[in-house]
Amino acid sequence: MDTRLRSYLENGFVLKPSKDLYFKCTACQMPLGANFLTDGSYVWIEGYEHYIYIHDYALSEGFLSNIKQNDFQVPILNEGEAISLRTQITVWPKIHPVPIDQVRKESKKETQEAFIERTMQRAKATFTKFNLDMLSYTLHD
Ligand SMILES: [Zn+2]
Repeated sequence: MDTRLRSYLENGFVLKPSKDLYFKCTACQMPLGANFLTDGSYVWIEGYEHYIYIHDYALSEGFLSNIKQNDFQVPILNEGEAISLRTQITVWPKIHPVPIDQVRKESKKETQEAFIERTMQRAKATFTKFNLDMLSYTLHD
């Protein structure tokens, strides 16, 4: 396969280090990389080219056409864009590259769900406390 493609995958802009020490190939357990990379349109894991070259995975049409559109050169992201992406994204690709709009949307959803979950927990705690208070009031009265 195209060496320009390989170089593109290897030279993504480091968006964020993974929480794990490194990603492990799900097929052969080989350690891959430890960073999430981006070209501003897609996010992928460092070492993803391993899946392509060793295990014959195919790049998605969308990702491939995005790479071709960029003429096999990872666009330079400014630090401002990178910081904004880092703060917006909380959901990361596991194996395959994902469009940045998609991870952004999923991250937003996750943040909202986490907020609802926290609010529910708080309401439940308040309710429980209220019940206990009522109980103790009844018992002591
Ligand atoms: Zn492997």
